[in-house]
Amino acid sequence: MDNAGTAPILSMTDLTKIYRSGASLFGKAGNRVVAVDHLSLDINAGEIFGLVGESGSGKTTVSRLILGLESPDDGRIRFDGRDVIGLKGRARRRFTRDVQVIFQDPYQSLNAHLTIYDTVCEPLVIHGIGDRTTRLDRVCAALETAGLTPPESYLGSYPHQLSGGQRQRVAIARAMVLKPRFLIADEPTSMLDASIAFQIFRLLHRLRTSFGVSMLFITHSLAAARNLCDRVGVIYQGRLVEQGTAQETIMHPRHPYTKALLDAHPRFGCRSQNGYGTLLADERPRPDTDHCLFYPRCSLAVEDTCNRRAPMLKTLEAGHRVSCFLF
Ligand code: ADP
Ligand code: MG
Repeated sequence: MDNAGTAPILSMTDLTKIYRSGASLFGKAGNRVVAVDHLSLDINAGEIFGLVGESGSGKTTVSRLILGLESPDDGRIRFDGRDVIGLKGRARRRFTRDVQVIFQDPYQSLNAHLTIYDTVCEPLVIHGIGDRTTRLDRVCAALETAGLTPPESYLGSYPHQLSGGQRQRVAIARAMVLKPRFLIADEPTSMLDASIAFQIFRLLHRLRTSFGVSMLFITHSLAAARNLCDRVGVIYQGRLVEQGTAQETIMHPRHPYTKALLDAHPRFGCRSQNGYGTLLADERPRPDTDHCLFYPRCSLAVEDTCNRRAPMLKTLEAGHRVSCFLF
């Protein structure tokens, strides 16, 4: 699906998060990390949107902001047209049912002391959904949805008795048991072998097709995003640098950083496989004035422009946007 729905189910506007550390009581400034920098994104209903960037680019912070695990310094998040930040009471509980998350490491995200039944049932208990019989039915249905069949054979197992791929399926069942409308998958396959990862992609794809779940798929790999996503947004140091359909962005990347990410196999900055050349120059000194954040690493940087001003996000053609002076 290239144009899944039209109405955004989740929209972020100017979202900003700054982490401060080491600030003292006596007013001495500590370190300041701008993890998310005026990020604006709309994710359409029924869409799988990929948020792509290298480690430390702010991807997990975006998911933590959406989930309310961090509060933003600026900006808005709306789900289904309603402000999420500061949601309370019933509306907050509804939101925590509608929006579920799967993390990178299923071993850490699952409680080792709980059976698979208790793991998948726990969200139903927390939300006061169903009774003993209906819960068992729902847990079995969720396990089946996640490809763990026959579900009865898993109920009494513990996470350590399962493989990495099966554990991630349990995490997916635990998310799906609440029949969410939106799923955040934060690098869900980066701990898995390629063939197992591919099966998880297919499962996520099926969740969208069968249940209409919209998704924010977070990854450092454009190749992974291409497998799964309708559209992608590429972030660098918390800023959106390029956005477009997965196909267009990956086949015709514009931003030097997106090109560098595509070149990054097996290692960032190594010789190109696809003709773009080595795009990551040695670090230039960071200018004191406003500048493109990628300037210090960009071999295509234009002096007196990229080191003097910050580029705006420009629309190149329908749905393809890039923030770079070369365009
Ligand atoms: P990603 O998920 O893309 O790897 P993160 O969102 O985890 O990136 O981190 C973005 C930036 O914010 C990084 O520079 C990271 O070191 C910093 N950061 C993340 N969490 C915290 C925190 N709790 N305190 C201070 N800095 C943090
Ligand atoms: Mg992360």
